[in-house]
Amino acid sequence: MGILDGIAGKVKSDLEWKAGQTISDTVAKGASAVTGKGAKAAPSNACPKCKKAIPDPRPKFCPGCGASLMVTCKKCNAEYPTGTNFCTGCGAKL
Ligand SMILES: [Zn+2]
Ligand SMILES: [Zn+2]
Repeated sequence: MGILDGIAGKVKSDLEWKAGQTISDTVAKGASAVTGKGAKAAPSNACPKCKKAIPDPRPKFCPGCGASLMVTCKKCNAEYPTGTNFCTGCGAKL
């Protein structure tokens, strides 16, 4: 009886240990998935309105919301992506 009790006790503790491992694995995976999502930064080449990534070559209008993605220089009519402050062709403020 003593030996059987010992084996039963060992099997039980093994199962509990495995169950604990599985649970901690799942928790670790879940935590990393959440951190990965939160750490993901918005792409720099994104629509200023809807934050959708803008494909290359940059279109004039956002494929997600249709917002204009280009600014035109009033002086020389050169076109620049939105967010550009000055025309590099004539120095005018955009
Ligand atoms: Zn957009
Ligand atoms: Zn200009």
